[in-house]
Amino acid sequence: MIVLKGAEVSARLKEDVQELLGRFPVGSRVPVAAIVRVGERPDDVSYERNVIKRIAAFGMEARVYVFPADIPAAEFVREFQTINEDKEIDGILLFRPLPAHMDGRLFERLIRPEKDLDGISPVNAAKVFAGEADGFAPCTAEAVIEVLKAYELPIEGKRAVIVGRSMVVGRPLAMLLLRENATVTVCHTKTRDLGKICREAEILVAAAGRAGMLTKDETAEGAVVIDVGINVDQNGKLCGDMVWDGLETAAAAATPVPGGVGAVTTAVLAKHLAQAAWRSRQTMDASEQEA
Ligand code: NAP
Repeated sequence: MIVLKGAEVSARLKEDVQELLGRFPVGSRVPVAAIVRVGERPDDVSYERNVIKRIAAFGMEARVYVFPADIPAAEFVREFQTINEDKEIDGILLFRPLPAHMDGRLFERLIRPEKDLDGISPVNAAKVFAGEADGFAPCTAEAVIEVLKAYELPIEGKRAVIVGRSMVVGRPLAMLLLRENATVTVCHTKTRDLGKICREAEILVAAAGRAGMLTKDETAEGAVVIDVGINVDQNGKLCGDMVWDGLETAAAAATPVPGGVGAVTTAVLAKHLAQAAWRSRQTMDASEQEA
């Protein structure tokens, strides 16, 4: 069984980003991401650290904007809009969920689609669902495609099964796989015969967020298994949705947890930042030529 390592996929993405940054005119300012966090949730703080590191490693800049968890909703809207309209900010990552006194959906509509690094805007969702390549998909969903492509694992014509239908992973991933000409089935808690459906998958994506819910017994011989789940087991250790033990007797390739998809997600975010900055320069050049 081939172990699909996130670090190798990220290294490839870094080359792509550096190639794109190399095409910016000499003396261009470095692309800047705004990381917007309300409150001090430990998961957010830890992910933020990884994002800052990744963006710096790819040769760009991240600025962190932290607000207290009890900031009045109207005040946060004003602060967010200032960041959203700041011409020096090329991309934005907004941590969610926001505190309960705020309307999280409002920010999906407020964020400028061209700065929306994690694909939360309905404009980007529509582009993903229409199969258009010029929007931003949620980074984790795109990370799955990047893993398959980096390892040259064919997608076209393959039967793909995704367990999970969230707007962050399952649904957009179904559309991205469809764009790559896979035949896609999406499973959820009301799916009947989940095991049988999973055993038919040539590409099996576990994105339910249930530690060890799928095993080699739900895996077809020769399947490519992508484990998106990030869970904590009874011993407090990080684990995925797949039981890794014995998986090699069925799967041809699989992503580990940790060290798989999670490691690629921040690299996709950094790629989106470079793309956002590149596109905004193209737009500025075009409008200067028109003027
Ligand atoms: P979510 O919003 O909780 O969605 C989970 C989905 O899985 C739901 O659609 C749910 O079905 C389905 N599901 C849950 N238990 C199931 C079961 N027993 N059988 C069949 N379907 C089941 O979670 P999420 O945000 O998509 O995240 C999923 C996992 O990915 C989590 O472990 C999360 O930590 C991880 N994640 C990883 C990254 C990364 O960077 N690698 C990023 C984001 C998320 P219903 O719709 O019917 O409830």
